[in-house]
Amino acid sequence: MSTSSTVTEVINPATEEVLRTVDRLGLDAVDDAVARATAAQKRWAAAAPAERAAALRSFAAVVDAHVDELAELEVANSGHPISAAEWEAGHVRDVLQYYAAAPERLSGKQIPVSGGLDVTIHEPLGVVGIITPWNFPMPIASWGFAPALAAGNAVLVKPAEWTPLTTLRIGELAVEAGLDPDLFQVLPGRGSVIGDRFVTHPDVRKVVFTGSTEVGTQVMAGAAKQIKRVTLELGGKSANIVFDDCDLEKAAATAPYGVFDNAGQDCCARSRILVQRNVYDRFMELLEPAVKGVVVGDPAARDTEMGPLVSRPHWESVAAYVPDDAPIAFRGSAPSGPGYWFAPTVLTPQRTDRTVTEEIFGPVVAVLPFDDEADAIALANATEYGLSGSIWTDNLSRALRVSRAVEAGNLSVNSHSSVRYNTPFGGFKQSGLGRELGPDAPEHFTETKNVFFAMGEA
Ligand code: NAD
Repeated sequence: MSTSSTVTEVINPATEEVLRTVDRLGLDAVDDAVARATAAQKRWAAAAPAERAAALRSFAAVVDAHVDELAELEVANSGHPISAAEWEAGHVRDVLQYYAAAPERLSGKQIPVSGGLDVTIHEPLGVVGIITPWNFPMPIASWGFAPALAAGNAVLVKPAEWTPLTTLRIGELAVEAGLDPDLFQVLPGRGSVIGDRFVTHPDVRKVVFTGSTEVGTQVMAGAAKQIKRVTLELGGKSANIVFDDCDLEKAAATAPYGVFDNAGQDCCARSRILVQRNVYDRFMELLEPAVKGVVVGDPAARDTEMGPLVSRPHWESVAAYVPDDAPIAFRGSAPSGPGYWFAPTVLTPQRTDRTVTEEIFGPVVAVLPFDDEADAIALANATEYGLSGSIWTDNLSRALRVSRAVEAGNLSVNSHSSVRYNTPFGGFKQSGLGRELGPDAPEHFTETKNVFFAMGEA
């Protein structure tokens, strides 16, 4: 990525070749976009709910017709395996379809009071700014823009500098679907310029930020100056807890996919595997072939399960967690030659090691033994984060107890699933603030207004 010019060089992480250059917008362009979005939002909010619903269904249909194109673009820009990229593009369509139902269902309440009629109305906020990270450019943008548009807002999206291409294309598809070009705008450029302007501009009424806890802290502090609404989706260091009474073969076979999906560049990565001490050795015996079996290679190939890391700087950051004297149990394979390849790596560190406490955001997992249920819960919660996690046990009562005790927003028992568009997603503690997705998301892009109508005498 070039840093001194006004363009970003977008690089294919599997080949290190420059794919394209993208102009970085400046402050004037952001202010102009906000002014146009402010006007477009008023027109959009004035349209009939059924008309807004139809527009979102059209948007979903146009995305559906371009799933293959979007997927190929993500393979090239982000190095995601083609099967994953197809899922991501299809997910954008699904999120749009799901929230297309919202404009006609965003009902308020009628509250019993004396002397008249009391109703609540969900008013749109106005212009919403969405700042996305580079790890899942398409899905994360859609989690913000689809419910925000459904609730009657205009949306500005700032994609991450390394991975703007699919978001820019989705912006074009919105126009092709008939949306007002000023209603949904994609603004590529620097976080410190465009993202920061979303925070400081008084006409941007909410900022949805997904990214690091470090930048999220700055966004929240800046937003506080205007009591600006924020949703924050931040880092994670999630635990995959394996009890001795589970299906150990299945737990070991699936554990690599719970952490190495998207090369570990996943906020929900189960990057700490906690294993009950009496089955630890057997688990490690089963884990080794599973890790070595992860197919790492050309992201355009159908059988590829894991691609490269997103960039050279990120590769350096991940590699720093695996020095020569690191406690490596075993590693998988990765191609050599051009590309930011990093082999899946299993570490057996001490509980206090930084590989256990810090988010690495790469294909590196720490495996730690625990003694009993209380120890497992304490270890799982010994982190500032609280995004996701998995619990492997065939004991239903234990599954209930542990899922209530782990401080995280998205848990799965005997699986590693965490993101579904129709269920809420977000973090405890420093993993974030607020929830995305699920049936309530459109309400998070509204203010509740209460109106009392006095009833006169007959
Ligand atoms: P990042 O914080 O560096 O950047 C995220 C976005 O913020 C980018 O678009 C960037 O340009 C922008 N930005 C940078 N400085 C800014 C500023 N001063 N003001 C406003 N915006 C600014 O994060 P990243 O490296 O792109 O993404 C990786 C991080 O994202 C990881 O910590 C990961 O856990 C997190 N993440 C969280 C979730 C979740 O849902 N909880 C999902 C995906 C990623």
